[in-house]
Order: sequence, then structure tokens, then C-alpha cells
Amino acid sequence: MIRLILASNNAHKIREFRELVEGMDVELLSQREAGLELDVEETGTTFEANAYIKAKAVTDALGCAAVSDDSGLEVDCLDGRPGVYSARYGGGHDVSDEDKNAFLLNEMGDTDKRSARYVCAICCTMPDGHVIQCRGECEGEMLFAPRGNGGFGYDPIFRPEGHDRAMAELTPDEKNAISHRGKAMREFLKKFEEYLNGNNK
Ligand code: IMP
Repeated sequence: MIRLILASNNAHKIREFRELVEGMDVELLSQREAGLELDVEETGTTFEANAYIKAKAVTDALGCAAVSDDSGLEVDCLDGRPGVYSARYGGGHDVSDEDKNAFLLNEMGDTDKRSARYVCAICCTMPDGHVIQCRGECEGEMLFAPRGNGGFGYDPIFRPEGHDRAMAELTPDEKNAISHRGKAMREFLKKFEEYLNGNNK
């Protein structure tokens, strides 16, 4: 069994990560479960940079492998906003998802240019200095009003390509099969296994 510390205290991300490694020989612990209270400032301007900052801080603190996810929504008619600021958009971390969604829809107005994508950068840092970076994207379009109550964050106002429902109307399995996080995570698990096999030789 491989133990990995997930450099996050976001309950939604932890749940989705656990669903993604279900049935695998991987034990995922959140940093809180690993006994680490850490609030790292995300000073990067890219998803990759912030993912690295979060994972490295945990590896430095605990001396073990850590994996992190930095993700967000890029809306084309808003020049890619909220992007890396997705968690803080429309007033900061304390604003509810409903209010963030209302703020974003209001900013977009009734434009019919509604293309957007979710992006997820996953970074894993090892105590030996090895770093694995993966990126997953999920294309789609912004709806005009929220629908559904699954998922989290912007899911009620995002319709993924190939579906006629909002992300928040998909089952967890349907979301994981197409989501930015699911894609990045599957690539990561492949590279992680390769790293472990190479390291065990
Ligand atoms: P982070 O914790 O700094 O990576 O910020 C991630 C933010 O991006 C979340 O708080 C959400 O606002 C948004 N986000 C990322 N992934 C998803 C998703 O799967 N569904 C909905 N919103 C997401």
C-alpha cells in the first residue's frame, strides 16, 4: 500500500481524489489527517506553479511524497478569468459557491460567446526531489442559470462538451470520467507507478 498525502483541506477535492483511487493500492490522507495544519499562500500565476508550491510545502514539512491539485475555470469571454483565482473570485474564500456563480454569470451578461474550460494541474513532490506534473482539461460552455446540485464550485453553471446536462447534474462516475481532475489524476497515477517501478529496480 502506497501512502500519499494530499496537500489540500478542500473536502470536495479530497472526496473526488478518493473516488479516483478507489480499488487501487493507494492510501490517500489529507494533510489534516496527516497531522499537518498548513495554509500555504498560492503566489503563483499558473496552475502548475501553485500546485508545485502546495505539494512542496507538505513534502518539506513531513518528509514524504505529497500530491496537490490546483484547478480552476477559464471563461473565454472574460479573457480566461477566473483562472487561477477561481477559489477567490467575486469576493474571496468566504463567499458561497452560489454567490460566486451569480457573480460570474452577471459578469458574462447575455453574451452567446460562452465557451470555457476547467483546468487541473496535479503536482507530486517526492522527498528525493523528484517532481511529477500533469494537466487535465475539460472543455464546455457556461449556462445562463444554475442547474443540479452535485459536484461543487462552478459545476451548476458549466455544461461539459458531449453532455446536455450541467456538470452538477452528472453522477460522480460520469463527472470523474470526463473531468479535468479525472484526466490529470489518471495521467498522474500512470507516471507515479512508473516512478515507483523505476525506483524499486
Ligand atoms: P484551488 O483550491 O486554489 O485549486 O481552487 C480551485 C477552485 O476552482 C475551486 O474552489 C472552484 O471554485 C474551482 N474548481 C476547481 N475544480 C472544480 C470542479 O471540479 N468543479 C467546480 N469548480 C471547480
